[in-house]
Amino acid sequence: MRAMDLIDRLNREGTLPDDALSELIGERNRLSGAEREYLYLLAREKSTAVFGHDIYLRGLIEYTNHCRNNCRYCGIRRDNGALHRYRLTDEEILSCADDGYDLGIRTFVLQGGEDGYDSDDRICRIVSKIRERHPDCAVTLSIGEKTHESYQRYYDAGAERYLLRHETADEDHYRHLHPDEMSMRHRMDCLYDLKEIGYQIGAGFMVGSPGQTDACYVKDFRFLKELDPHMIGIGPFVPHHATPFADCAAGTLDDTLFFLALLRLYFPKALIPATTALGTIHPRGRELGVLAGANVIMPNLSPGAVRKDYLLYAGKICVDDEAGQCRDCIGARMHSIGYRTVAARGDYPGFQKKHNPPDESGGSEPDRRNQDDL
Ligand code: SAH
Repeated sequence: MRAMDLIDRLNREGTLPDDALSELIGERNRLSGAEREYLYLLAREKSTAVFGHDIYLRGLIEYTNHCRNNCRYCGIRRDNGALHRYRLTDEEILSCADDGYDLGIRTFVLQGGEDGYDSDDRICRIVSKIRERHPDCAVTLSIGEKTHESYQRYYDAGAERYLLRHETADEDHYRHLHPDEMSMRHRMDCLYDLKEIGYQIGAGFMVGSPGQTDACYVKDFRFLKELDPHMIGIGPFVPHHATPFADCAAGTLDDTLFFLALLRLYFPKALIPATTALGTIHPRGRELGVLAGANVIMPNLSPGAVRKDYLLYAGKICVDDEAGQCRDCIGARMHSIGYRTVAARGDYPGFQKKHNPPDESGGSEPDRRNQDDL
């Protein structure tokens, strides 16, 4: 069958021309169970060839749900007046990181809405305090679109990675998902700025979001190929009741696993999470994500009291858990499928940090320090 030939070709060559990719994407719902399993097998073989059976952990600290933006899909959008807004103090954020450290987390992801209260000074102060207290850890920021100058300041303060999903690489689709004041070009420019400064960068998109067509996915892959990010986050779109997309259907498990596997075949060395949204639409979503090529999980380190307020979408899992429970649960889930969570920074293989001598850069091999089975 033609789709199988395309999968084999992608596996061999690591890329497909647009027309072939488009054909494969168009065929995805006609793949048999066995054909899907074959795709996932190839993807996870690519992943284990680089990362073994190690799963890197990124401790997520959702430090503010204030947001100046009004993205139509997102539960913390500005117009959601019913939401209880919160903002963690410096001390609360540091205490989340300390707790995470004790649980074996070596990367902290500070994520939030675009909060007007966040001065660059504040972000820099928090980043440098975390780095001081935990010098063997990486800090990742996921705080939206900022100026080149701000990104440079955060980097100089010690932030080394930045997650900024491009959301979609199709102009019309971008406009369908976002209000007029936001721009796809600007978001993409931010990603190029971050890369140029020297960050390990993460892009990505939702699967099955309203208005998304097969042609949108082809453009996503083309853009990702050009950007060549170190991390790629995808997860199913999940509707939130207080958004204009409340009544739209969620993205499916099969589609998300299909695109995860394709991403792994395109980007063998990328750090690709099995996301919380995937765990939300299926009880074993994250395990299945790893079995389709993902190699990162992001346990939640946010304080229990605020978790239910950082609801980007409906039904988000683990909102009643504490950090230790999330971490243990993820460890057990990975163990159940023959993988192990490791206490390592998990940098992009071979990544050389700018402005630093190579011997301080984190090495050229996947980070296998402290790889105790936690
Ligand atoms: N303000 C930051 C963080 C955004 S939240 C930024 O701009 O990057 C992180 C990601 O959650 C978003 O990039 C988006 O892709 C995803 N997300 C938001 N709403 C969602 C929904 N309803 N379903 C699934 N994913 C969603």
